[in-house]
Amino acid sequence: MELGGKRVLVVGAGKSGQAAACFCAQRGAGVVLSDKCERSITFNQKVSFEIGHRLDSFLSADLIVVSPGVPKLDELCAADKNGVPIVGEVELASRFIEAPIVAITGTNGKSTVTALCGEIARHTGRPTFVGGNLGTPLIECVGTIAASKNGIVVVEVSSFQLETCTTFHPRAAAILNITPDHLDRYANLDEYAAAKWRIAFRMNMDDVLVLNENVLRGVKYDPAMTVLEYSTDSKNGVAAFIDDAEPVLESVDGERFPVAEMNLVGNHNLGNSLAALLLMRASKLASYEQARAGLRSFQPLPHRMQLIGEKRGVCFYDDSKATNVDSVVAGLDGFPRPFVLIAGGRDKGGSYAPLGDVLLRNSCRGVVLIGEAAPLIDRALSPSTARLIAPSLQDAVKQAFALSAEHGAVVLSPACSSYDMFENYEHRGRVFAAAVEALDG
Ligand code: ADP
Repeated sequence: MELGGKRVLVVGAGKSGQAAACFCAQRGAGVVLSDKCERSITFNQKVSFEIGHRLDSFLSADLIVVSPGVPKLDELCAADKNGVPIVGEVELASRFIEAPIVAITGTNGKSTVTALCGEIARHTGRPTFVGGNLGTPLIECVGTIAASKNGIVVVEVSSFQLETCTTFHPRAAAILNITPDHLDRYANLDEYAAAKWRIAFRMNMDDVLVLNENVLRGVKYDPAMTVLEYSTDSKNGVAAFIDDAEPVLESVDGERFPVAEMNLVGNHNLGNSLAALLLMRASKLASYEQARAGLRSFQPLPHRMQLIGEKRGVCFYDDSKATNVDSVVAGLDGFPRPFVLIAGGRDKGGSYAPLGDVLLRNSCRGVVLIGEAAPLIDRALSPSTARLIAPSLQDAVKQAFALSAEHGAVVLSPACSSYDMFENYEHRGRVFAAAVEALDG
């Protein structure tokens, strides 16, 4: 794709928009970066900045690069009708990448699976890029050795990024789960799911599409594609499953991966490891030894069921990124120790009933509630679940420690956003870690 001398309009001046603007300017395009509000950005490249969206800029462009957060603007529709090509940053980047691409999408678990595939890829010794929706924009890998034929590119892609993908062609891709989310942008769950399925648009029998069996229920797919399903609940008819708490790749010679070597906890993470192992092994991008070494050296990402400390035999886990009920349920189902849960924060409007159920199914010693949603969660818990309300996270940590069993755990997994008490989920996680550190013992 030739960009030299083209007029490129980049819409949305966030992280990926800025990266796309620099990329196009470096390749000799005349670039205008348009955003609805003013931003102070300095560029090494020649990029002009436009505040607000001007229809003539859209209509006169040779190419429009649209950022994932940008809504369906009237100007974009008009440019589309006029035949102006519209791509996203991921689509644009992928046209310049020769390396095999491993792509991951889903409602929950994307970052974990992406980072795990990246860790396995690094053990292959091939130059590796890991990024996309998580971390560095994909376009920043173009021109690096990781994007050459000898490299491996692992990319997390959101449904927003997939909307503008047309020729994006991963060698291996996964859809981890599709549960209600972003329904402010999509008319319904089907429309949201359709965006996620675009990941497989260009894939064929030589590629590997990895799906959680839940994703496939009721969906018809093109039989000209190699589809491998995994499940943490059942062993029937799936390519990978859990046996004796161990990931097993039935479709890859029944390979087994010792769970004792993994630093990931929870049933959902067993599922995440099945997805990553299938992606890297079924595509033949990594050997068994390399995949196993990657699984062994992988450390959970910050604030996702991350073991952050131990006091008198009690382990403390930071799962502050779990801001919806689904992710808390996934994290606590199959939790390997008796635990005390710290939950609460700003309510996001869903039902807490599944949270009450998961506590009954697993060995929960009690719950300490914080924040605005404390009374709401309190009402949804079973009368048999011990619970307390704490005025601060520091106090909650003390109360949870006092309630916890020997060799047990305290888990911060809020099921709520953090904005009532903290700047964001990272801040909440840091306050939790400091409170654990301050405990006696
Ligand atoms: P994403 O990048 O999709 O937001 P993360 O890997 O950052 O996913 O995990 C976000 C939250 O979702 C964490 O709290 C984690 O415990 C939970 N989670 C991780 N994997 C899954 C999964 N496969 N299903 C449901 N929840 C998950």
